[in-house]
Amino acid sequence: MTKKVILLFLLLFFALPCVTAQSPQPQQPPPPPVRAGAADSANERKISPEQAKELFQSVDEILQFASKDSLLPLKTPVKKAMLSRAQVEKYVEDKFQEDVDRIRFERSELVLKKFGLLPRTFDLHNFLVRLLGEQIAGFYDPKSKTMNLLDWVPWDEQKPVMAHELTHALQDQSFDLGKMMKATEEIERRGPTDPNALIQIDEESGCRTAVLEGQAMIVLVDYILGPAGRSVENSPKFVDMMTSQMEQGDESPLFASAPLLLKEELTFPYTQGMKFIQVLLTKGGKKLAFSGVLERMPQTSREILEPEEYLAGRRVPPLTLPDLDFLKRDFEPFDAGAVGELDVKILLKQYANEETASRLSREWGGGSYYAAGRKGVKPADPNSSAHIGLFYVSRWSNEKSAQEFAKIYASGLAQRYGKLERAPSQGNNSGRDKYTSSDGPIFIAQQGDLLVVVESFDEATAEKLIQAAQKRSAALKYSRTVFAAADSGLSSALKMSARPFGITAPSAPPSTNMSDPLRRP
Ligand SMILES: [Zn+2]
Repeated sequence: MTKKVILLFLLLFFALPCVTAQSPQPQQPPPPPVRAGAADSANERKISPEQAKELFQSVDEILQFASKDSLLPLKTPVKKAMLSRAQVEKYVEDKFQEDVDRIRFERSELVLKKFGLLPRTFDLHNFLVRLLGEQIAGFYDPKSKTMNLLDWVPWDEQKPVMAHELTHALQDQSFDLGKMMKATEEIERRGPTDPNALIQIDEESGCRTAVLEGQAMIVLVDYILGPAGRSVENSPKFVDMMTSQMEQGDESPLFASAPLLLKEELTFPYTQGMKFIQVLLTKGGKKLAFSGVLERMPQTSREILEPEEYLAGRRVPPLTLPDLDFLKRDFEPFDAGAVGELDVKILLKQYANEETASRLSREWGGGSYYAAGRKGVKPADPNSSAHIGLFYVSRWSNEKSAQEFAKIYASGLAQRYGKLERAPSQGNNSGRDKYTSSDGPIFIAQQGDLLVVVESFDEATAEKLIQAAQKRSAALKYSRTVFAAADSGLSSALKMSARPFGITAPSAPPSTNMSDPLRRP
């Protein structure tokens, strides 16, 4: 749902104030701090050009470490740069300014506000830029093939950061990260005129980030633990401690003030990604945890959250949308995306509680949304969303879970919309609820394991949408598909490492559920 928003953060590395403090042994005594020049902001201690030179001299040694730790071969030397705060701010602003991305970004922001996942007047752009300025500790740029270190990051954190960023360089050398992301970017650029394409890549791109960051985190932890003769494999508690510190993020007041959605989405690749790779490491060794998983990527956040599902080759296919051509007369495409297990977990955390979120999100069986803008309507208030019709379809492992989610979703409406009123129930139409709100009518229709929510569309259109979703759902029998027999998409590495543990070999997803994208206008 929100992967578009966080794409910008790809391959960045959030500062981990705990990292070096918890290190069993310092890598080496830090040199005396250097004061920032008078022209520079605050009292930041900056890395001097001499110190940068010294750090860069250890690039080869750390690259060797990362290559040995990940078994990803070192093919070419890696370029390196030490950036100032001004240079990083420019890099971030430039990324935001790319026109297509910004429009998509603003559209997603409004839909997230409509879902109640961001406060109405929240300035997402501004917040992310500020948060990034505070949290970033380094980044690898696959375009320029450069590891970028930051001159305000404390000396004793620089080498662990290098271990992380150089792991991205090794991933890039074997798996071409630019190419990996290009297909996704092209679909993002085409936007919601092809909603099913967006739905298919939405969860995939989130998984990719989690795998890439998870691996880089594992190498970082191994680098920190190395001098004490330890590693992730024999110190699993260290990973637990780190992830819980990252989730709390209490060293940063700005992070602490972030809406739940952002906290969860931004930490997911680092915390859940790291735990996912850790499980792979334990079950199948380095080959599975690095090159194996890169060759056979998980495609849903469910697989990251529940690594046993990935290992068993069970995958929930994308829940693509029915033909929505009938909307074209009055509406234009606005936004679309998947609502994955992670998204559902966040919604449940927000509208119910932690316990319900952990339990019920596991019953997720697919989800997607489509947002359409009423033609010719441009509200004066950019945060107004009454002109945006929202169509959200979700599938559950059983009827009871669909009912429970419907109830919680309905209970959240009052927090999202003004003047909310429940309409009297309509005769024998069980599983149907209707509300009126400041954003127009809302319909919640649950039938078996399927839940359809339609917001801000007129009643006749809502009825068409509900029926289209139910008809399509009946045609696509729910399956938590097990890709067991065929092994076409699977690397021999995964098979080799999986075999001793009795893990079934997953294969490429079936094409049947993905073969009827919406007709283009
Ligand atoms: Zn990273």
